[in-house]
Amino acid sequence: MTDTTTPVPLTFASRVDQVFPMLTSEQIARIAAHGQVRHVQRGEVLMEAGEQTPRFFVVTAGHIAIVRPSGSTEELVAVLRPGQFTGEVTMLSGRRGFVRLRAGEPGDVIEVEREHVLALVQTDGELSEILLRAFLLRRVELIAHGFGDVVLVGSRHAAGTLRIQAFLTRNGHPYSTIDLDRDAGVQALLDRFQVTVDDVPVVICRGEVVLRNPTNRQVADCLGFNEAIDHTQVRDLVIVGAGPAGLSAAVYSASEGLDVLMLETNSPGGQAGSSSQIENYLGFPTGISGQDLATRAYTQAQKFGAQLLIAQSATQLVCDRKPYAIEIDQGPRVLARTVIIATGAEYRRLAIENLAQFEGVGVYYGATFVEAQVCGGEEVIVVGGGNSAGQAAVFLAHTARRVHILIRSGGLAASMSRYLIQRIEETPAIVLRPHTVITALEGGDHLERVRWRDNQTGTSETHAIRHVFAMTGAVPNTGWLAGCVALDAQGFIKTGVDLSPEALAAARWPLARAPHLLETSLPGVFAVGDVRGGNIKRVASAVGEGSIAVAFVHQVLHE
Ligand SMILES: Cc1cc2nc3c(=O)[nH]c(=O)nc-3n(C[C@H](O)[C@H](O)[C@H](O)COP(=O)(O)OP(=O)(O)OC[C@H]3O[C@@H](n4cnc5c(N)ncnc54)[C@H](O)[C@@H]3O)c2cc1C
Repeated sequence: MTDTTTPVPLTFASRVDQVFPMLTSEQIARIAAHGQVRHVQRGEVLMEAGEQTPRFFVVTAGHIAIVRPSGSTEELVAVLRPGQFTGEVTMLSGRRGFVRLRAGEPGDVIEVEREHVLALVQTDGELSEILLRAFLLRRVELIAHGFGDVVLVGSRHAAGTLRIQAFLTRNGHPYSTIDLDRDAGVQALLDRFQVTVDDVPVVICRGEVVLRNPTNRQVADCLGFNEAIDHTQVRDLVIVGAGPAGLSAAVYSASEGLDVLMLETNSPGGQAGSSSQIENYLGFPTGISGQDLATRAYTQAQKFGAQLLIAQSATQLVCDRKPYAIEIDQGPRVLARTVIIATGAEYRRLAIENLAQFEGVGVYYGATFVEAQVCGGEEVIVVGGGNSAGQAAVFLAHTARRVHILIRSGGLAASMSRYLIQRIEETPAIVLRPHTVITALEGGDHLERVRWRDNQTGTSETHAIRHVFAMTGAVPNTGWLAGCVALDAQGFIKTGVDLSPEALAAARWPLARAPHLLETSLPGVFAVGDVRGGNIKRVASAVGEGSIAVAFVHQVLHE
């Protein structure tokens, strides 16, 4: 280690045995079969922070310091002794790492290339459990300590701040924040990078690149989220959309040996990822947050070798030739023998003229921990009478002073589960306002006032409410399919037995066999989850359909 090192070790104390487990000699021998022994000198850098291809090391003699470079100094994160190993989630994703590995004294390590680590976690159950648990817990620690390669300089009054926070959080990427509203000394930092207040939020990426109010795509590019992925090869299966349906299809297809690529406009998890607490998903009696479920599913898909292009939207399906091609915004097209469409549906927007002005700065389409923090102690409105509106109201009632639920109809019984209605009735902070619609939104940089009308009495009222959660039904994400597959009257994709002989004839179905379950009017192209006509809009049904479609993908690949 250099003399400039500042000894500030992290406090992993609570679960140190799981974060930095000690491997047995038998386990080390099994890893050694996949790598090579390397002698290291004192001070030698084994891996640099930000190096493109992560490698894995097991210490067998001496010790390795995990350090975080900061200018010409290093901050000590942890010290690994014989039997301990390096690595975290980037080992699975193939993204750049955040730390430098430096030998603290002369010693020996076993060095293993990333692809051999991936093979190991797929074939050795015992090592898979130890390694994956340590990788995930280390990522949790990095996030908790903001130990990433990103600084977000933002303001609660800038819509982009919440968007980028949500993007980084939902991609499980550690970052630290500087809040312009609270940190008076930040102006000097902005001046240093010649950034004006209009450029907010600012993302400082890897301590070098300064992005001014960037798109999610620019953030993903800067952090190299997609660098390790080859666009050129023809994939057995391309899955469009990484919500529960797409992630499930990825886990099953990759674990069954298919070469799988997922495309995702935003972050893994889809709508479910924005759910504060999913309470009816099998196996989680106390509920699980959508973010947790998505993180676990994404890690599981990566463990089996599925790859995900983040912040890349499918813009067109080219369906007049095989393999099928999928055009991506600003990127090279990807080629697929089979396709699973799992693009879900989006919540309807409120019919208010100046809505866009307040989206992200007072009007939200999901109620997660991030939004709950922003509106803590204030009055909020939830619009909608479905289950997601009910969940949002109950969740927000923990932190908000009062939650008004606005519904057009006279009651919730026809649209919401009984257990949620009961929770709402038992929560004094929630007020149900039937027959009520929002008619105007007012404010400047942020929503300040909401006007609503009671359609029964005809009276209108204006309230100083700064946060509206719109949860009012869904529209399918099928715009990019441009006539390739048959849709129902609401624009959802028709599959299997829902495709009548007339619909198949109109779509020029070319095969003697009928479409498989979940297959669209285009052979080898399947639709699963919320985007599919007749789908029950639940996480469990999305997950189930994702797995079922894979069984038929195998059949099509063998046709
Ligand atoms: C706040 C909230 C709470 C909910 N709570 C529950 C609950 O408690 N229990 C329950 O069972 N269900 C719940 N639901 C419903 C459940 O989340 C959905 O049924 C489920 O997420 C559907 O999964 P999906 O994969 O089909 O679609 P989605 O989750 O919508 O995922 C689709 C994905 O496709 C991506 N995408 C769209 N277009 C493109 C494109 N062109 N290119 C690339 N990617 C694209 C989207 O970004 C998205 O990530 C809730 C929904 C919400 C919004």
